[in-house]
Amino acid sequence: MSHYHSIRHHCKSNQKLPYFNQEYVIGSTLLMDEGPIKNGGILVNGDHIREVGNFDDLLSQYPNVPFIDCRNTTVLSPGFINPHEHTAYSYQVPDEILLLGYDHRNSEYRYTNRFDWILGSITKQKLPNVPGLFYYNAGKVENVENAAKIAAVEIRHLLSGTTTIAGPGGVPGIINNAGWNGTGFSNIYTEHVDYEVFPFDNAVVTRANFTKICDGGRSSIAKLVTPDNFSYVAHVGEGLPTSCIASTITKVFLDWVEYYRDTSFTIIHGVAADDTDFVQMAKYNVSLIWSPRSNLCLYGQTVDLKKIVKNNINIALGTDWSPSGSFNILQEIKCAKQEMIRQNVSFTDQDFWRFTTKNAAYSLKIQDELGEVACGKRADFFLSVYNEKKGYYGSVVDQDLSDVLGVWINGTAMVLSKELQSIWSLDAYCCNNIKLEGETSFFTSAVCFCNAPFLNASVWGLTKDYVANGTIVNWSGEYSKQGSCNPEALGHTHITFEDL
Ligand SMILES: [Zn+2]
Repeated sequence: MSHYHSIRHHCKSNQKLPYFNQEYVIGSTLLMDEGPIKNGGILVNGDHIREVGNFDDLLSQYPNVPFIDCRNTTVLSPGFINPHEHTAYSYQVPDEILLLGYDHRNSEYRYTNRFDWILGSITKQKLPNVPGLFYYNAGKVENVENAAKIAAVEIRHLLSGTTTIAGPGGVPGIINNAGWNGTGFSNIYTEHVDYEVFPFDNAVVTRANFTKICDGGRSSIAKLVTPDNFSYVAHVGEGLPTSCIASTITKVFLDWVEYYRDTSFTIIHGVAADDTDFVQMAKYNVSLIWSPRSNLCLYGQTVDLKKIVKNNINIALGTDWSPSGSFNILQEIKCAKQEMIRQNVSFTDQDFWRFTTKNAAYSLKIQDELGEVACGKRADFFLSVYNEKKGYYGSVVDQDLSDVLGVWINGTAMVLSKELQSIWSLDAYCCNNIKLEGETSFFTSAVCFCNAPFLNASVWGLTKDYVANGTIVNWSGEYSKQGSCNPEALGHTHITFEDL
C-alpha cells in the first residue's frame, strides 16, 4: 500500500474512509466466547460481518478492500447489550431520598418491594412521579424537548460501547432499541422483544388476589402470555425475599413459565426468588437480568449470586433507570463487581463481558443477530484501547469512556475518537456531529448521525445542549450522582409524609 495514514499509535489505514463505507477490514484482537483472537480481523460488508479470521489472510483475500489496522494496541468487542434500561425515565438523577442513601437497616422505613416507593404508605416514602418521555412523535412540536432528552440518554449509553438497549422509550436512528413490540412505534424498536415492565400492575397486586395469597391461600392470576418467537421479559420479584408480594409475584410468574413452555422467559430483578424459584428458573431456562445498583439503592439487597451460579442460570447485566440505577453499563459492571466481592463469588472479566454481550442477547432472544462478533451477525461492535495490566476482557469491562476508540452500529461508525476521526472522514460526511472534549488530551470523541432524520435543527440543537451540559450524558464522570451501590450506606431517617 502506497499511502499509510498513521494515527497516534493505535491504528493505521491505507486510505481515508467515507462515512457511508460499504466494505472494510478492521484488524484488532477479537474478543470471542472461546478466547481472544490475536492478529484477528473482521470484514464488514454493509450492515453485517462477512468474515472473521486472521488479519493478514483477510488482506490477501480482499486486496482491494480498505483496511484499518489496530492490531496489538486495541481490542474489538461485540457492542454491549443493556437489556434493562428505561430510556424514557433516565434523564433524571435520583431523588434526594435515594441520593443520600436510604437507611435500609430501619425496617420501618425501608422499601420491601416496588409498591412501597410507587404507591407509598404510612411509613414508606413515595418517590415523586417522574414523567416518562417514551418516544418522539415527529408531528408534535411539544415533543421536541422529549426527543432531545431521549437522544442524549441514548448517546450516553453509546459512548460506553453499548449498541443495543432494551426497555420502554427511544428515538429512531441512534442506538438499537429492543422492546415494546406491537405498540405502534415500530420505527423506534429495531429489535423485537415482548418487554413488559410490570406484568402485574399496581391495581392487581393491591387488590384482593395477592392479598389473599399473602394471607395463606394460593390463587391463580390468569394472564395470557402470547406464545410467539419473542422473549417475554418482565420485572419480577422486585423486592426483598421477606416481602410476600415480591415473592408471590415470582411464584405466580414461574407458574406461567411452566404452563407456557414454548415461550422464552426472562426475569428482571428476581431479588425475592428463593431456592425453589431458582431451581424452576434453571429447569425452564429462564434468564436473569441483574441490576445490582438499582436493587441495592432501593432495597439494600440484591440477588443471591451463589444460588444463581449453583443453578447455572443465564445472567445478563442491565442498568435499570438513572433514578436508582447506573448511568451506563460500565458503571453497572463496577457495582456488580463490588457485590460479587461482598457475596464471596468469583466471576472473571470474561464472565462480566458475557453478561453484557452474548448472555444479554440470549436473554432478549436476539442472539441470532447480535451479541457476538461472528460471520453473518450484525456489524455492531466497538474498538477499545488494549491495556496489558487489565487483560483482554478487562480492557473492555474496566474501560473508561476515553478508552473507547469507536462504536459501530449496522456497520456505520457512530462514535469516533479523535484518532479515528482522521481515518473516517467524519467532518465531510457526518450529518449531525457533536464533538465531546474529555479530560485527557487524546479524548475528543465525535458522535455522528446520518440515520436519524427526526433530528431536525431544533431537536439537534437541544440534544447538543443536554450533551454539552453533562446533565444527561454524564460522560465526563459525574458518577457520584448515581444511586448508591453500597447497602451499608447510611441514609437519613427523617422522612416527611407530605406526599401521602
Ligand atoms: Zn426496571
